[in-house]
Amino acid sequence: MQQYKNKGHVITFVKLSANMKADFAANVSHELRSPITQIRLKGEALQLGLTTDEEDLRRHYDAIVHESERLSRLVDNVLDFAAIERGAKRYQMRQEDLRLLVATTGEAMRAPLAARGLALDLDIPEDLPQVEVDREAVKQVLINLLSNAAKYGAEGKWVGLRMRLALDSIDISVSDRGIGISKSDQARIFEEFYRSSDTNVRRKKGTGIGLSIVRYIINAHGGSLSVDSEPGQGATFTVTLPLGPNAPASE
Ligand code: ADP
Repeated sequence: MQQYKNKGHVITFVKLSANMKADFAANVSHELRSPITQIRLKGEALQLGLTTDEEDLRRHYDAIVHESERLSRLVDNVLDFAAIERGAKRYQMRQEDLRLLVATTGEAMRAPLAARGLALDLDIPEDLPQVEVDREAVKQVLINLLSNAAKYGAEGKWVGLRMRLALDSIDISVSDRGIGISKSDQARIFEEFYRSSDTNVRRKKGTGIGLSIVRYIINAHGGSLSVDSEPGQGATFTVTLPLGPNAPASE
Protein backbone atom coordinates (compact mmCIF):
# COMPACT_ATOMS: atom_id res chain seq x y z
CA MET A 1 0.00 0.00 0.00
CA GLN A 2 2.74 2.36 1.04
CA GLN A 3 4.69 1.52 -2.09
CA TYR A 4 1.64 2.00 -4.30
CA LYS A 5 1.04 5.37 -2.69
CA ASN A 6 4.63 6.36 -3.32
CA LYS A 7 4.31 5.37 -6.96
CA GLY A 8 1.15 7.46 -7.17
CA HIS A 9 3.06 10.46 -5.87
CA VAL A 10 5.84 9.95 -8.39
CA ILE A 11 3.38 9.72 -11.29
CA THR A 12 1.49 12.80 -10.11
CA PHE A 13 4.74 14.72 -9.85
CA VAL A 14 5.95 13.71 -13.33
CA LYS A 15 2.55 14.57 -14.84
CA LEU A 16 2.50 17.93 -13.12
CA SER A 17 5.93 18.83 -14.34
CA ALA A 18 5.09 17.67 -17.91
CA ASN A 19 1.99 19.91 -17.82
CA MET A 20 4.03 22.78 -16.47
CA LYS A 21 6.57 22.33 -19.26
CA ALA A 22 3.82 22.27 -21.89
CA ASP A 23 2.35 25.46 -20.39
CA PHE A 24 5.82 26.96 -20.38
CA ALA A 25 6.35 26.26 -24.11
CA ALA A 26 2.92 27.74 -24.88
CA ASN A 27 3.61 30.78 -22.69
CA VAL A 28 6.99 31.43 -24.33
CA SER A 29 5.46 31.27 -27.82
CA HIS A 30 2.64 33.53 -26.69
CA GLU A 31 5.06 36.04 -25.23
CA LEU A 32 7.27 36.01 -28.34
CA ARG A 33 4.34 36.76 -30.61
CA SER A 34 3.47 40.21 -29.33
CA PRO A 35 6.87 41.95 -29.74
CA ILE A 36 7.47 40.22 -33.08
CA THR A 37 4.09 41.42 -34.38
CA GLN A 38 4.74 44.96 -33.14
CA ILE A 39 8.18 45.10 -34.75
CA ARG A 40 6.82 43.78 -38.04
CA LEU A 41 3.86 46.18 -38.12
CA LYS A 42 5.97 49.21 -37.26
CA GLY A 43 8.71 48.15 -39.71
CA GLU A 44 6.18 47.64 -42.53
CA ALA A 45 4.58 51.02 -41.86
CA LEU A 46 8.00 52.66 -42.18
CA GLN A 47 8.87 50.62 -45.26
CA LEU A 48 5.65 51.61 -47.02
CA GLY A 49 6.16 55.26 -46.08
CA LEU A 50 2.83 55.32 -44.20
CA THR A 51 4.32 57.44 -41.44
CA THR A 52 5.74 60.78 -42.38
CA ASP A 53 5.44 63.32 -39.60
CA GLU A 54 8.38 63.65 -37.24
CA GLU A 55 6.54 62.66 -34.05
CA ASP A 56 4.93 59.59 -35.57
CA LEU A 57 8.26 58.44 -36.98
CA ARG A 58 9.85 58.81 -33.54
CA ARG A 59 7.06 56.71 -31.96
CA HIS A 60 7.64 53.96 -34.51
CA TYR A 61 11.42 53.90 -33.98
CA ASP A 62 10.97 53.90 -30.19
CA ALA A 63 8.47 51.05 -30.36
CA ILE A 64 10.84 48.98 -32.52
CA VAL A 65 13.70 49.53 -30.06
CA HIS A 66 11.56 48.78 -26.96
CA GLU A 67 9.95 45.71 -28.45
CA SER A 68 13.32 44.30 -29.58
CA GLU A 69 14.70 44.91 -26.07
CA ARG A 70 11.72 43.02 -24.67
CA LEU A 71 12.42 40.19 -27.09
CA SER A 72 16.08 40.09 -26.00
CA ARG A 73 15.10 39.96 -22.32
CA LEU A 74 12.78 37.03 -22.96
CA VAL A 75 15.34 35.11 -25.05
CA ASP A 76 18.08 35.80 -22.45
CA ASN A 77 15.85 34.38 -19.73
CA VAL A 78 14.95 31.25 -21.69
CA LEU A 79 18.59 30.56 -22.66
CA ASP A 80 19.77 31.16 -19.10
CA PHE A 81 17.08 28.97 -17.67
CA ALA A 82 18.10 26.15 -20.06
CA ALA A 83 21.78 26.56 -19.07
CA ILE A 84 20.87 26.50 -15.36
CA GLU A 85 18.77 23.33 -15.88
CA ARG A 86 21.70 21.65 -17.70
CA GLY A 87 24.06 22.68 -14.89
CA ALA A 88 26.10 24.58 -17.48
CA LYS A 89 25.72 28.10 -16.12
CA ARG A 90 29.02 29.71 -15.01
CA TYR A 91 29.49 33.12 -13.45
CA GLN A 92 32.50 35.40 -13.83
CA MET A 93 32.98 37.03 -10.47
CA ARG A 94 34.87 40.33 -10.43
CA GLN A 95 35.11 43.27 -8.06
CA GLU A 96 32.51 45.68 -9.39
CA ASP A 97 31.17 49.10 -8.61
CA LEU A 98 27.66 47.88 -7.81
CA ARG A 99 26.42 51.43 -7.42
CA LEU A 100 27.25 52.22 -11.04
CA LEU A 101 25.83 48.91 -12.25
CA VAL A 102 22.49 49.45 -10.45
CA ALA A 103 22.29 53.11 -11.56
CA THR A 104 22.97 52.36 -15.24
CA THR A 105 20.61 49.38 -15.34
CA GLY A 106 17.90 51.45 -13.65
CA GLU A 107 18.42 54.32 -16.12
CA ALA A 108 18.28 51.90 -19.06
CA MET A 109 14.91 50.66 -17.80
CA ARG A 110 13.52 54.18 -17.30
CA ALA A 111 12.17 54.50 -20.88
CA PRO A 112 10.48 51.06 -21.04
CA LEU A 113 8.92 51.74 -17.61
CA ALA A 114 7.76 55.20 -18.70
CA ALA A 115 6.24 53.63 -21.83
CA ARG A 116 3.99 51.67 -19.46
CA GLY A 117 3.17 54.77 -17.41
CA LEU A 118 5.53 54.08 -14.49
CA ALA A 119 7.87 56.60 -12.89
CA LEU A 120 11.19 55.17 -11.67
CA ASP A 121 12.41 56.44 -8.31
CA LEU A 122 16.14 55.72 -7.87
CA ASP A 123 17.51 55.93 -4.34
CA ILE A 124 21.22 55.10 -4.41
CA PRO A 125 23.73 56.30 -1.79
CA GLU A 126 26.93 58.08 -2.88
CA ASP A 127 29.58 55.87 -1.33
CA LEU A 128 29.42 52.10 -1.50
CA PRO A 129 32.24 49.54 -1.38
CA GLN A 130 32.97 47.35 -4.38
CA VAL A 131 31.47 43.86 -4.37
CA GLU A 132 32.49 40.67 -6.13
CA VAL A 133 29.71 39.85 -8.58
CA ASP A 134 29.02 38.73 -12.14
CA ARG A 135 27.97 41.96 -13.87
CA GLU A 136 25.63 40.42 -16.43
CA ALA A 137 23.96 38.19 -13.86
CA VAL A 138 23.25 41.07 -11.45
CA LYS A 139 21.94 43.11 -14.38
CA GLN A 140 19.58 40.27 -15.23
CA VAL A 141 18.35 40.12 -11.62
CA LEU A 142 17.51 43.83 -11.72
CA ILE A 143 15.89 43.64 -15.15
CA ASN A 144 13.71 40.70 -14.11
CA LEU A 145 12.59 42.41 -10.89
CA LEU A 146 11.97 45.75 -12.64
CA SER A 147 10.08 44.05 -15.50
CA ASN A 148 7.86 42.27 -12.96
CA ALA A 149 7.27 45.56 -11.13
CA ALA A 150 6.21 47.09 -14.48
CA LYS A 151 3.98 44.14 -15.30
CA TYR A 152 2.26 43.59 -11.96
CA GLY A 153 2.62 47.11 -10.59
CA ALA A 154 1.41 49.09 -13.60
CA GLU A 155 -1.63 50.51 -11.82
CA GLY A 156 0.58 51.94 -9.04
CA LYS A 157 2.45 54.00 -11.68
CA TRP A 158 5.57 53.97 -9.52
CA VAL A 159 8.63 51.74 -9.17
CA GLY A 160 11.30 52.22 -6.51
CA LEU A 161 14.88 50.97 -6.89
CA ARG A 162 16.84 51.43 -3.71
CA MET A 163 20.29 50.43 -2.44
CA ARG A 164 21.47 50.34 1.14
CA LEU A 165 24.74 49.44 2.82
CA ALA A 166 24.25 47.06 5.76
CA LEU A 167 26.85 45.71 8.19
CA ASP A 168 28.17 42.95 5.94
CA SER A 169 26.05 43.26 2.81
CA ILE A 170 24.59 45.55 0.21
CA ASP A 171 20.81 45.38 -0.05
CA ILE A 172 19.00 46.22 -3.27
CA SER A 173 15.23 46.45 -3.30
CA VAL A 174 12.68 46.84 -6.06
CA SER A 175 9.23 48.04 -5.00
CA ASP A 176 5.95 48.63 -6.74
CA ARG A 177 2.45 49.70 -5.73
CA GLY A 178 0.57 47.16 -7.77
CA ILE A 179 -1.53 44.04 -7.22
CA GLY A 180 0.67 42.55 -4.47
CA ILE A 181 1.12 38.86 -3.62
CA SER A 182 -0.87 36.64 -1.24
CA LYS A 183 1.01 34.83 1.54
CA SER A 184 0.43 31.43 -0.08
CA ASP A 185 1.80 32.67 -3.42
CA GLN A 186 4.80 34.25 -1.67
CA ALA A 187 5.82 30.75 -0.62
CA ARG A 188 5.84 29.52 -4.24
CA ILE A 189 6.73 32.33 -6.66
CA PHE A 190 10.46 31.46 -6.69
CA GLU A 191 9.73 27.94 -7.98
CA GLU A 192 10.33 27.37 -11.69
CA PHE A 193 7.25 27.72 -13.92
CA TYR A 194 5.10 28.88 -11.01
CA ARG A 195 2.59 31.63 -11.81
CA SER A 196 -0.11 32.75 -9.43
CA SER A 197 -3.61 31.55 -10.37
CA ASP A 198 -4.91 35.05 -9.51
CA THR A 199 -6.80 36.44 -12.53
CA ASN A 200 -4.88 39.72 -12.24
CA VAL A 201 -1.69 37.74 -12.84
CA ARG A 202 -3.12 35.48 -15.56
CA ARG A 203 -4.21 38.53 -17.53
CA LYS A 204 -0.50 39.39 -17.98
CA LYS A 205 1.76 37.30 -20.17
CA GLY A 206 4.54 35.40 -18.43
CA THR A 207 6.59 32.21 -18.39
CA GLY A 208 7.15 31.69 -14.67
CA ILE A 209 10.95 31.45 -14.91
CA GLY A 210 12.05 35.04 -14.13
CA LEU A 211 12.10 34.74 -10.35
CA SER A 212 13.59 31.23 -10.37
CA ILE A 213 16.54 32.66 -12.37
CA VAL A 214 16.82 35.52 -9.86
CA ARG A 215 16.88 33.04 -6.98
CA TYR A 216 19.53 30.90 -8.69
CA ILE A 217 21.80 33.88 -9.42
CA ILE A 218 21.52 35.24 -5.89
CA ASN A 219 22.30 31.83 -4.39
CA ALA A 220 25.35 31.56 -6.67
CA HIS A 221 26.52 34.89 -5.19
CA GLY A 222 26.08 33.65 -1.62
CA GLY A 223 23.30 36.18 -1.10
CA SER A 224 19.66 36.00 -0.12
CA LEU A 225 16.34 37.04 -1.56
CA SER A 226 13.10 38.00 0.15
CA VAL A 227 9.68 39.38 -0.66
CA ASP A 228 7.42 41.60 1.40
CA SER A 229 3.88 42.19 0.20
CA GLU A 230 0.21 42.61 1.06
CA PRO A 231 -2.34 41.84 -1.64
CA GLY A 232 -3.47 45.09 -3.25
CA GLN A 233 -0.64 47.04 -1.63
CA GLY A 234 2.26 46.34 -3.99
CA ALA A 235 5.39 44.30 -3.41
CA THR A 236 9.02 44.77 -2.41
CA PHE A 237 11.70 42.28 -3.46
CA THR A 238 14.99 42.61 -1.60
CA VAL A 239 18.29 41.13 -2.74
CA THR A 240 21.10 40.92 -0.21
CA LEU A 241 24.63 40.57 -1.59
CA PRO A 242 27.41 39.82 0.87
CA LEU A 243 30.41 42.15 1.04
CA GLY A 244 33.54 40.14 0.30
CA PRO A 245 36.33 39.74 2.87
CA ASN A 246 38.34 42.40 0.97
CA ALA A 247 35.61 44.98 0.94
CA PRO A 248 36.55 48.20 2.71
CA ALA A 249 34.78 48.59 6.04
CA SER A 250 31.78 50.90 6.04
CA GLU A 251 32.28 54.31 7.66
P1 ADP B 1 6.24 35.51 -14.74
O1 ADP B 1 6.19 36.96 -14.40
O2 ADP B 1 6.76 35.24 -16.11
O3 ADP B 1 4.94 34.81 -14.47
P2 ADP B 1 8.19 35.20 -12.57
O4 ADP B 1 9.00 34.00 -12.19
O5 ADP B 1 8.94 36.44 -12.88
O6 ADP B 1 7.28 34.75 -13.80
O7 ADP B 1 7.17 35.48 -11.40
C1 ADP B 1 6.43 34.40 -10.84
C2 ADP B 1 5.12 34.91 -10.27
O8 ADP B 1 5.37 35.77 -9.15
C3 ADP B 1 4.27 35.74 -11.23
O9 ADP B 1 3.53 34.95 -12.12
C4 ADP B 1 3.38 36.50 -10.24
O10 ADP B 1 2.36 35.63 -9.76
C5 ADP B 1 4.35 36.75 -9.06
N1 ADP B 1 5.02 38.08 -9.09
C6 ADP B 1 6.30 38.34 -9.43
N2 ADP B 1 6.59 39.65 -9.28
C7 ADP B 1 5.47 40.25 -8.82
C8 ADP B 1 5.12 41.60 -8.45
N3 ADP B 1 6.01 42.60 -8.53
N4 ADP B 1 3.85 41.83 -7.99
C9 ADP B 1 2.94 40.82 -7.92
N5 ADP B 1 3.21 39.52 -8.25
C10 ADP B 1 4.45 39.24 -8.68
